Amino acid sequence: MPLGQALFDAIQPRRDALLSSLRSLVEHESPSLDKPALDGLAHTIGKRFEALGGRVDLIANEIGGLHVRARFGPETGEKPALVIGHYDTVWPMGTLAMMPFRVEGNVAFGPGIFDMKASLTLIEAALEAIRSLGLSHPRPLVVLFTSDEEIGSLRSRKLIESEALASAFTLVVEPPLSNGGLKTARKGNGMFNLSLEGRASHAGVEPEKGRNAIVELAHQILAIQAIARPEVGTTLNVGVIAGGSASNVVPAHASAEIDARIISASEATRVDAEMRALRPITPDIQLTLTGGFNRPPMERTPAVIGLYERVKAIGATLGLDLTEGSTGGASDGNFTAALGIPTIDGLGCPGADAHGVNEHILVDGLLERAALMAALLLGL
Ligand SMILES: [Zn+2]
Repeated sequence: MPLGQALFDAIQPRRDALLSSLRSLVEHESPSLDKPALDGLAHTIGKRFEALGGRVDLIANEIGGLHVRARFGPETGEKPALVIGHYDTVWPMGTLAMMPFRVEGNVAFGPGIFDMKASLTLIEAALEAIRSLGLSHPRPLVVLFTSDEEIGSLRSRKLIESEALASAFTLVVEPPLSNGGLKTARKGNGMFNLSLEGRASHAGVEPEKGRNAIVELAHQILAIQAIARPEVGTTLNVGVIAGGSASNVVPAHASAEIDARIISASEATRVDAEMRALRPITPDIQLTLTGGFNRPPMERTPAVIGLYERVKAIGATLGLDLTEGSTGGASDGNFTAALGIPTIDGLGCPGADAHGVNEHILVDGLLERAALMAALLLGL
């Protein structure tokens, strides 16, 4: 029997068991900033990986949740495959009461199900299928699930990068594109804060003594927008502004928060330099810029394309016609790809409405992507 069919045959009968496993993950809420909730779920995930034969480390994180790392297969000295995901969600504690886990036909709903608790179930199903067929993956496998992806991965970045550098390649189980496509390019992102300090004065009595920080900010906003180059994918969004105290006071303070997205490292360097070169037009006003680029872009390099072509070929043996695409959103795949490690993202479960009230996955898609993951672990 062809391997693909054998994998499907091993996974399909587990449908109900996998859904109940997924249900318990969704029903254990895990907002990125709730350490007790995160740590509790990390222990649960660790126990599941141990039951699948993994050697599990729960990696300490004083501020946020524990990160879960599981190693599978013999320590052959060969570079491992790295699979990365995150178990935190954007949903605050208590969301479950309004958005309970439920299955309607082929669709399963719940907070964090698509982004990305179904990915844990997908890996569980893939490893179970490999075991039940008496097979073993040819190289060691490291599965890493972190606790802070939704808030920028500040506490997991070093860990992700060190595991990626030790790996042969990295598979990221973030949700796929809306058409099911894999992600071979992602924009990098930055977050800046511009603070302006002018001088207050009475707007009626002595306006000439004031230095209007809001008027200066208006100039700066236009200067910031002029840094964008949408034709090469570079966008800047002045998303939040603040300033002033009363209409009869020349405002001394104003500030802006800016989101920047780029598709190449050279554009990150240019944008960063131009942001830092902003100068006040009004005399006697101080500008202070903080922040910078957080995730580098995931570029569609030859290493990424080479891995994508092998993934696509393995998918074809399962009867899957895998496609690729890019997205403006960033993930932890940005970190691994920027290190030159062959990286494919979007290997999670098909579904829709990540971070939205109709967040859901397709159950058939979960089974299909579990078979694909098993075939990738066996074949790459
Ligand atoms: Zn995610």
